[in-house]
Amino acid sequence: MQPFATIALVLILARATTELWLSRLNQRHVRAQTNEVPPPIREIIDEPTYRRSVDYTLAKSRFEDIANLFDAGLLIALLFSGVLAWAFERFSASFSTSILAMAGFLFVTGIALSIPGLPFAWYAQFKLEERFGFNTTTTRTWVLDRMKGFLLAVLLGYPLLALVLKLIEWTGVNWWLWAAALVIAFQLLLLFVAPAIIMPLFNKFTRLPEGVLRERLSALAQCTDFPTRSIQVMDGSKRSRHSNAFFTGFGRFRKIVLFDTLIMQLTERELESVLAHEIGHYKKRHVLKLLGVSIAGVPVAFAAIAWLARQQWFYRAFGFEHQGSLAAANAVPAMLLFALLAGTISFWVSPVVHIWSRRFEYAADAFARAAMGEAQPLIRALRKLSEKNLSNLIPHPLYSSFYYSHPTLLERERALRIAA
Ligand SMILES: [Zn+2]
Repeated sequence: MQPFATIALVLILARATTELWLSRLNQRHVRAQTNEVPPPIREIIDEPTYRRSVDYTLAKSRFEDIANLFDAGLLIALLFSGVLAWAFERFSASFSTSILAMAGFLFVTGIALSIPGLPFAWYAQFKLEERFGFNTTTTRTWVLDRMKGFLLAVLLGYPLLALVLKLIEWTGVNWWLWAAALVIAFQLLLLFVAPAIIMPLFNKFTRLPEGVLRERLSALAQCTDFPTRSIQVMDGSKRSRHSNAFFTGFGRFRKIVLFDTLIMQLTERELESVLAHEIGHYKKRHVLKLLGVSIAGVPVAFAAIAWLARQQWFYRAFGFEHQGSLAAANAVPAMLLFALLAGTISFWVSPVVHIWSRRFEYAADAFARAAMGEAQPLIRALRKLSEKNLSNLIPHPLYSSFYYSHPTLLERERALRIAA
């Protein structure tokens, strides 16, 4: 085995075993407290709901263990069987190594690699979520969602891939800088148009119906300088009983989206506090800051791909033949292998990213408390959200550091009370 192939194998196994170990740790942590409702959350959740949340957490966790093991096994089989290099050769022989054909190879491979995940996605939606009463997706909606996703990939993903490869021809050694600039421009464009054009392909967005709720939310939006027409209701109930709210987009296209399920579950005062939290994300420019980091990552990724594309050992490790540093066809295996292996590195960075995203949540909570003049409505809203979504209120701290982008309910309540 080539040394780099060994490194790749170690990276894949390290991630898979850590995921499995973290999951076991969390399952044991949850199971150890099933006899009675743990004291810190006794006043938050009743016994039957607590039991259901434990069952839901454990069922999801066991399912994810299987899915993770499957993914790792599939990745190892793909990388070390030589099937990718074989497919690349066959594809180049049949369709040439022109830019359009090479972009086609990346595109077709990407689609092919997404197929094994479909049964898992189907099971998660129609068995697991169904069992706990969350699923409202029909088979028709599920199939249509995937078809729309596929069409978007054809219309947006394929031309982008072709353009990136074309840049190698056009710009030579520094192609990766140009490619990074192109991808960043594409990301920015997407952020502008996604809320206006792409999201409505999947969901209906409507203005809040006239009435007390709209008046109260408008008043809050006005005193926090947020344009009211940007508050919209999304038919989340089309797919699930889970409830949520989020802030998205930029400039003219920015919006705060409230799930219809959330509106059904919360009182007006609680909804106001959730809206205030989302306005907090907007006011404190959290979307911009997150975008800044993801933009900074793009040139780093392309620099890595361009560098790997020049390394003979990288190609040999997975059975590819190297065909001269500046051939577009040469960057294609590097892009593919990079995409397949990136997750084995980014996994270890997730706790750092989560420390950062949790800071944003605390800041948005603090903003909401100040805007509302009290912490209680937000605390009640967060409690209801946890209850209705059967959230695990007592994750193992190490597990939550890897998987939770938000602080837990108890952590948020504590922060809201201390500041009050
Ligand atoms: Zn938030």
